[in-house]
Amino acid sequence: MTGGPATPVACDLVIRGASQVCVIPPDGGGLLAADPSQLGIVGGGALAMRGGRVVWAGPESLADRALGPEPDATVIDASGCIVVPGLVDPHTHLPFGGWRAHEYSMRLGGASYLEILAAGGGILSTVAATAAATDQELLAAGRGILDEMLAGGTTTVEAKSGYGLELEAELRLLRLAGELGRTHAARVVPTFLGAHAVPPLYRGNADGYVEVVLEEMLPAVKRFALAEFCDIFCEPGAFTVEQSRRVLTRARALGFGVKMHADEMSQSGGAELAAELGAVSADHLLFASEAGAQAMARSGTIGVLLPITVLSLLGDEVDAGHCRRQARMLRAQGVKLALGTDCNPGTAPSASIQLAIALAGRIFGLPPVEAMLGATRHAAQAVGLGGQVGTLVPGARADAAIFGVPSYEDIAYRLGGNLVRWVIKDGRVVHCPGGPPAAGERLVS
Ligand SMILES: [Zn+2]
Repeated sequence: MTGGPATPVACDLVIRGASQVCVIPPDGGGLLAADPSQLGIVGGGALAMRGGRVVWAGPESLADRALGPEPDATVIDASGCIVVPGLVDPHTHLPFGGWRAHEYSMRLGGASYLEILAAGGGILSTVAATAAATDQELLAAGRGILDEMLAGGTTTVEAKSGYGLELEAELRLLRLAGELGRTHAARVVPTFLGAHAVPPLYRGNADGYVEVVLEEMLPAVKRFALAEFCDIFCEPGAFTVEQSRRVLTRARALGFGVKMHADEMSQSGGAELAAELGAVSADHLLFASEAGAQAMARSGTIGVLLPITVLSLLGDEVDAGHCRRQARMLRAQGVKLALGTDCNPGTAPSASIQLAIALAGRIFGLPPVEAMLGATRHAAQAVGLGGQVGTLVPGARADAAIFGVPSYEDIAYRLGGNLVRWVIKDGRVVHCPGGPPAAGERLVS
């Protein structure tokens, strides 16, 4: 934040008169996460951008003097609204073929997980539906979901492969994720998750599949530069800690950042391994141990909580009291927490990070301040973009979401709707009621 400099700051997009601008400065100061000052709130604030970067954030009362908008600058009157950094969804399974509504009906009809699997459901049904879909169909479905995410304020989306489970199919999904990123307004960060499940061909021989991931898939993903991160589903029934260590150690040696699905359904040492390998994130963590949490806090590994998924598991696999105690433990150990949708056709058929924020309080007891940090600063760190997105400090990417509410607390409090008015990505208005603005247009809420 700057005061009123002598020379007006040139800008091509200005947001004026917001009730709050949440600047969310990068880490520092050793403040408690629950301290609202962590959000760097400017009450009665304005924000200016130029050339796709934030150039100024400060009080509305200084904006006239401080800013020199270019003649065709877009001006947004954000009275009664708040401005936050474009939200970051650090855990999704885009792209995939088809939803699984029928399976959900079966579950509510009393079918067990094994009965659903026997009826051809579960992750392998998505692998089959993804294989059966054309590239154009997968791109269209992916764009539809990204449209929904963008309209809900999400400007950066991590996207995992993992519904291929063989070399060409995994490379195809990563190429499609890359194509989505190049052609959609949302920023897409691709992650290789070849070790998402053991495919039928390798049933009882997970080590054999791990060899394929190590010797064929990882080198090819590297050669074609298709992913920034490598992830693995470390869980009994999927991949062991030892198999995860092999895959992620190789990935790291090849220059990938590493992430993990860790300790989701049982305590298997996933959090400890994530910390040992310096993973950017360990995700789910419902059963992570206290020692694992301590290690994560020391290594700076972000803990990604996925409350929408938990909502699907509540009652059967986990109970609400456990989730709350677990989140309290992670916070007490100093783990920095992020939030994601986990958007996937099985446990989390949702594109709404606003829903994840609202559920984070109800399910994990996360205060609104921490939920906001979880969808901005910490989520950005979980996809390796800390300081560049998830913040509105001058110099950051000009990604912002303007919500039609008076305070950031309302985003955590309100449940189930879309509170967003405008979304800006790289300094361009990408979501606007009534269509994109003309040059120099003044947008009013
Ligand atoms: Zn996942």
